[in-house]
Amino acid sequence: MKHVTVLGCRVDAIDSDGAVARIAELVRGEKPSLVVTLGTEMVVYAQGDARFREIVNSSALSLCDTIGVKIAARLQGAGVRERVTGVDLLEPLCTTFAERGVSVYFLGAKGDTARRAATALQARHPRLTVAGVRDGYFTPDQEPDVTAAVAASGARAIFVGLGSPRQEFFLAERLKETGCAVGIGVGGSFDVLAGNVQRAPLLWRRLGVEWLYRLVREPRRWRRQLALPQFVWLALRERVSLRSTRRFS
Ligand code: UDP
Repeated sequence: MKHVTVLGCRVDAIDSDGAVARIAELVRGEKPSLVVTLGTEMVVYAQGDARFREIVNSSALSLCDTIGVKIAARLQGAGVRERVTGVDLLEPLCTTFAERGVSVYFLGAKGDTARRAATALQARHPRLTVAGVRDGYFTPDQEPDVTAAVAASGARAIFVGLGSPRQEFFLAERLKETGCAVGIGVGGSFDVLAGNVQRAPLLWRRLGVEWLYRLVREPRRWRRQLALPQFVWLALRERVSLRSTRRFS
C-alpha cells in the first residue's frame, strides 16, 4: 500500500471505503492487527517517544485522522485524499461486521458511554454482535483482568477509546492476549456516538476546522490544541529540509 511519512510517522494512502475493506480482510487473518487513527497531537507526541513511533509505523493500518496530518501528507505528494476518522469508520465497519458475523468489543470512555455507543450502533445494525463493553477507567494493575474479560467474550474485533497514546500502548501490549484479530484506536468516538459530545456540523468538517469547533465547545482542550501550531511548525521545517536535501542530492 502507498504511504507517506509525516515527521517520522507512517500515513497510509487509503480512503474510508478502502480502510473498511482492508479491516474486513484483517479480521479474517491469524495475526493480530492494530489500526491507528493518526491525529496531529499523536504525531507531535511521537517526536519525543520512539516506542510510540514504532507502534504507529508497525501498525497494520495508519489512517489520516486530522486535517493537519492530511495537509502534511499531501505536501509529501502521495494520494492521502481524505481524513478517515475513528468516528467515521465505526458506522461502515459495523455494517460490515454485522454482515459477516464479526463480534466486537467496545472498550473505553466514562461510565456507561461505551454501552450507550454500542446500543446506538446496534439499533442501526441489528445483526451486529456486541461481545462486550467496558469503560476505559482502569489502572495498569487492572489491565490483565480487562484483557482476560475481552478474551473470554470471544470478540473478534475491539474498538478501543482510551485516548492517545494510551489506547495504542494498550493495543500494542495486549491485543494478542485479547484474542481479537483487529484492534482499532478510536479516541473519543464513543462520546460522539453516545451523544455526550456533538460533532462539528458538516460544513465545519468540510472546511477542515473541526478542531476549531471542538475548541469553542470545549475550551478546556486549549492546552492540548497547542500541539497544532507545534505540528505546523515541525511539518514546515520538515518540508523545507526535504526540499533542500533533494536540491543538493
Ligand atoms: N478515556 C478513557 N480512559 C482514560 C482516559 C480517557 O477511557 O484513562 C477516554 C475519554 O473518556 C474519552 C476518550 O478516552 O472518551 C478520549 O477522548 P479525546 O476526545 O481526548 O480523544 P481524541 O478523540 O481527541 O483522541
